This record gives sequence, structure tokens and C-alpha cells, in this order.
Amino acid sequence: MATYVYRCADCGDFELTRPLGEAGPSERCPACAEPGRRVWTAPRLADNGVRTRAAAAEERSAHAPTVTSGPPPRPGTRAPGDPRHARLPRS
Ligand SMILES: [Zn+2]
Repeated sequence: MATYVYRCADCGDFELTRPLGEAGPSERCPACAEPGRRVWTAPRLADNGVRTRAAAAEERSAHAPTVTSGPPPRPGTRAPGDPRHARLPRS
């Protein structure tokens, strides 16, 4: 299935879902039943519930981006360890 866009002279654009290749040059407007001419757009094939991992990750990062608390550590410096390690016996 694909979503096709039609334009009604009175109501503006409306969308219809049709099987691929079965979209006619004009369809009746759902609001006023006047014929609307097809508007040529790229077919929206990804709206059928099947999402790629990359698209899902991209959407997640838009809603909940990874937030950092500071700049990355400078090269050569060690990240602070657990403070309890200082109390461990030394050999
Ligand atoms: Zn209309």
C-alpha cells in the first residue's frame, strides 16, 4: 500500500491509501465529493509499520537524546575510580 496525495480545488490536499500502481489520475474528495487531481509526490512506503533499526534509533534520539554531563576525558588521564579502592590494602 502507498499513500497518494490529491488536491481538491475547494478543500485542498487530501490523502488516500491505495495498492501500488492503482492510484488513478483523479479521486473524489472525501469532504465534498468533487474530483481532485493527483499531486505527484514520492511514494511514502515506510508508513506501513515496518521500521528500520536506523529509523527507530533516529526517532529515539530526537525524543530522548543522549545527554552528556561534561566534556570527554582528556587523553592520557584515567577516569576516577571507585573511592573505596583507596581503602584496599596495598601490597
Ligand atoms: Zn473537496
